[in-house]
Amino acid sequence: MRDGDGEGPSGSTAPSAPATVDDGSLDTPNCPDCLTRMEPEESPSGEPYWACTECGFIALA
Ligand SMILES: [Zn+2]
Repeated sequence: MRDGDGEGPSGSTAPSAPATVDDGSLDTPNCPDCLTRMEPEESPSGEPYWACTECGFIALA
């Protein structure tokens, strides 16, 4: 009678999905020039756009 040899039905060591997800990382584009993650910015007129903090590349959101 062997118990605990490998995968047991107890499930105490079952890996759970991490609850922490990078907020907004899914929609954040990378700079086409230097591949740096771009930062969401907003123009004085309220127009959202992406700005690269490395090379200053700007892309409309
Ligand atoms: Zn860049």
